[in-house]
Amino acid sequence: MANVADTRLYDILGVPPNVSENELKKAYRKLAKEYHPDKNPNAGDKFKEISFAYEVLSNPEKRDMYDRFGEQGLREGGGGGGMDDIFSHIFGGGLFSFMGGHNRNRNGRRRGEDMLHPLKVSLEDLYNGKTTKLQLSKNVLCSACNGQGGKPGAVQKCSTCRGRGVRVMIRQLAPGMVQQMQSMCTDCNGEGEVMNEKDRCKKCEGKKVVKEVKILEVHVDKGMKHGQKITFSGEADQAPGVEPGDIVLVLQEKEHEIFHREGCDLHMTHKIGLVEALCGFRFTFAHLDGRQIVVSYPPGKVIEPGSVRVVRGEGMPQYRNPFEKGDLFIKFDVQFPDSNWISPEKLTDLEDLLPSRPEVPCIIGDTEEVELQELENTRSSGSQRREAYNDSSDEEGNHHGPGVQCAHQ
Ligand SMILES: [Zn+2]
Ligand SMILES: [Zn+2]
Repeated sequence: MANVADTRLYDILGVPPNVSENELKKAYRKLAKEYHPDKNPNAGDKFKEISFAYEVLSNPEKRDMYDRFGEQGLREGGGGGGMDDIFSHIFGGGLFSFMGGHNRNRNGRRRGEDMLHPLKVSLEDLYNGKTTKLQLSKNVLCSACNGQGGKPGAVQKCSTCRGRGVRVMIRQLAPGMVQQMQSMCTDCNGEGEVMNEKDRCKKCEGKKVVKEVKILEVHVDKGMKHGQKITFSGEADQAPGVEPGDIVLVLQEKEHEIFHREGCDLHMTHKIGLVEALCGFRFTFAHLDGRQIVVSYPPGKVIEPGSVRVVRGEGMPQYRNPFEKGDLFIKFDVQFPDSNWISPEKLTDLEDLLPSRPEVPCIIGDTEEVELQELENTRSSGSQRREAYNDSSDEEGNHHGPGVQCAHQ
């Protein structure tokens, strides 16, 4: 018990720290087969990790160094050039950060988290492009102590946890069976470092970083899309020994009153009357750049209710090619006149002008005449509606209504 140890390499091979050489070899062969890039091309660096772990643990000298001094022991023992990469890959940020795979740059230096911010933009902004300023508060390295947290040499690596901030306890429950527990190092509060109080930097109070207000100039380009990212490399929080991550703005397109966007195309709905649907029309609307667009449709061409027409080239500009534009689709909502809008005599005149009625087929035998009602009459409230249904179901037994005479036109 109470044995501070690093067991990551053992964990990678899925073996306990007291594993025999034979068992170690078996475990390695099994995993190496499973994760070989030929067989498992999606496993990423897993194969490299397995090979590295085995290379260390199968060498008695290296294994002894690792058992006694952990990661640090190996580093000081000298890993050789290409090894450094996989080294920091495994040890740099703990087992969890390398799962993500992108937390490290090519030099193996740790990389800070990217900071994501949503940025709301109107459809007008995306059509016309826009430059905006964004103010944000971020951590920067303290200039007073150069990010040291105190006077040079004031900061000491915590000896209890050897700078890792965590203590790993291995408890042997039975031969070959160990329990591993991680707990925060209490000597350094998990920071991996300790410092003399009087040497502490006054400006940052030993935190190594201070808050700074930063103003970013954001260019929203014509044709950018909802969800598109604008990246400011290395502008995220700074921290000592860490390459700052990026600030990433994620565009959030606001709903527009008139237009609905689909890719490069715009969609809108326009109300017209029956006369326009039948006799042509002209109407104007304001486009996203403020232009007044006149849309005309010639007399004689009919717009069916709910139908769609297109204006080519009046959609959204293409990203990075803004002179090319998508199309504008207009859906027509045809408004019919109200009931009794015209006198019965004029209706006859109108009927003479309209296309003629279809022939009504002659019905022979029993017929039933029913009344066609407007839905609103039975929809006004739930109880009324039920009554209405009851009424109609009562009538259902009442077959053989008055006969309808066969009418010829
Ligand atoms: Zn400072
Ligand atoms: Zn510590």
